[in-house]
Amino acid sequence: MTFKELGLKSEVLKSLEELGFETPTPIQTEAIPHLLKEDSDFVGLAQTGTGKTAAFGLPLVSKVEEGIKIPQGLIICPTRELCLQITKDLQNYAKHLNISIVAVYGGTDIRRQMKDIKDGVAIIVATPGRLVDITDRKALRLDEVKWVVLDEADEMLNMGFKEDIDTILDKTPETKNVWLFSATMPKEVAEIARNYMSNPLEVSIGHKNQTNENIEHIYFMVKERDRYAATKRLIDFNPSIYGLIFCRTRNETAMVAEKLEKDGYNAAPLHGDLSQAQRDSVMKRFRERSLQLLVATDVAARGIDVSDITHVINYNLPDDIENYTHRSGRTARAGKKGESLVLINTREMGKIKHIERVIRTTFTAGRVPDAKEICEVQLMQLADKVISAEVKEDDIQEFLPIIMREFEGLSKEDVVKKFVSAEFNRFFDYYERSGNLNASKEDERGGRERRDRDDFDNNKTRFFVNLGRRDGLNPGGLLRVLCDSTGLRSDKIGRIDIMASFSFFEADNELVDQILTKANGTEYEGHQVSVEVTRKRKEGGGSRNGGGRRSEGRSFGGNRSDRGGERRREGDRGGDRGGRSGGFKGRSDSRSGRNDSRSGRNDSRSGRSGDRRR
Ligand code: AMP
Repeated sequence: MTFKELGLKSEVLKSLEELGFETPTPIQTEAIPHLLKEDSDFVGLAQTGTGKTAAFGLPLVSKVEEGIKIPQGLIICPTRELCLQITKDLQNYAKHLNISIVAVYGGTDIRRQMKDIKDGVAIIVATPGRLVDITDRKALRLDEVKWVVLDEADEMLNMGFKEDIDTILDKTPETKNVWLFSATMPKEVAEIARNYMSNPLEVSIGHKNQTNENIEHIYFMVKERDRYAATKRLIDFNPSIYGLIFCRTRNETAMVAEKLEKDGYNAAPLHGDLSQAQRDSVMKRFRERSLQLLVATDVAARGIDVSDITHVINYNLPDDIENYTHRSGRTARAGKKGESLVLINTREMGKIKHIERVIRTTFTAGRVPDAKEICEVQLMQLADKVISAEVKEDDIQEFLPIIMREFEGLSKEDVVKKFVSAEFNRFFDYYERSGNLNASKEDERGGRERRDRDDFDNNKTRFFVNLGRRDGLNPGGLLRVLCDSTGLRSDKIGRIDIMASFSFFEADNELVDQILTKANGTEYEGHQVSVEVTRKRKEGGGSRNGGGRRSEGRSFGGNRSDRGGERRREGDRGGDRGGRSGGFKGRSDSRSGRNDSRSGRNDSRSGRSGDRRR
């Protein structure tokens, strides 16, 4: 089936050609011929991403009479975002027609919108509250309206717009047609259909609660405290990510966005505490792709229609499963593939099972990638970027002789090695310290033992320090003390766990003497520092009791509540690398959604999509 066969005007077909729309989507094939008819009420059960805007927009712009300045079409939708999006889409469809389309939404100057309407408008796209305001001011005639579209009707009712919708519909002529689109059909939506439509054609694209088949749903089980670090790894593992990260609350949204920004990622928050101007600016950047990661609440992200989002990351699952569907539906638009990644802690498996039942989808169990995998992906990305860089001979010509002299005597292999090291040393150092972030159900019970087994490295020694959080010690403070006293660089110190009254850190075995002699007896904020070896891993590992466990045994025996201590996380020092090396992450120049075939893998179980199928 082609758009031409659906019966659209030639001017509209021309716009579609320019937009690159070749084949109608299923909802378009079903809806368009019906909506082009004389008397056409319609109910479409379809999610965003199915092409529903064009399903009503194309017939609407085809039917509206050109050159008439009183509104004939009225589209009502829940959010300002969606309102602007629909307006833009319709303006594109109507590019070769003489039809004026105006967006009317809250939070901005009402007089300007009233003036636009007064100047003459054929189609109004509006949010309910503002539309009622404008009609109350008698600035809008609705008596010539022939078509009313209710888009995302379930969302509008969820958001409490029922009364406004009734008010508006009651002001429009009896003879109008109503086209209603909704992802779900709760009884309130069915009631609107009953009250305002006669014999509508009902089209359902997929099961009403079914999510798009192009979305791969993957969950990652991590310890609660590793949620943020795991999120960063998923991002690092997908260098071309163009993603939406969902949090449950405004606070969490602000916190995650702030940490990511601090850690050098190209991320920004979108939530209700921001002013309208701030939200607009963030959305603009995201849409233009100068922002790579948008961290949002469910409410703020409603109605966002941004194409080509590669990943939705559920930092925390929503309480309401309906929201999960809305979230994951932001990726895999218009026939493309996408991934919805979910972070859960060891007690949240039930939530995954519940979502699976309701949306009739199976999740894949993912594995948070380890340092080596991430470094490999990042290196491949870098290599790819270098190899595909365009060489501007004329521009570099005059600098070449001097540069060539600098490199004189280095083989190709040396140059490559040096170049990789220059870009990556900091990154390697950073990840070298990080352990395995994957948790399992057993972690809930024998978590401590498991961590011992999994995380400690044979080449590292674990040290006990007599000071803890109660002494004002934090990971940065401990690093400072150790580096100042020993003269070591901070990247020589591995993982740090700050407990209430004592702490641990790791360092390479060969540094034991240096650390014990130099760090012992120094001071930290008036306290004398004492450092002991707690354990040295024996070759081949396996022995959890190897080495002097005295300190650790004593401490844990005596103070079990300290177990959930403030472990130094990856994020604590991530700023170092993002900021200074500036080479490997969150870059706005990343070719999002690019097909990274060089990496030659498609291991989605580890959250990877370097070679995405896009
Ligand atoms: P919607 O469900 O209306 O939010 O549309 C999702 C995305 O698909 C939008 O970015 C549209 O521009 C795009 N789209 C809609 N219909 C088609 C089509 N027939 N061919 C290609 N892209 C489309």
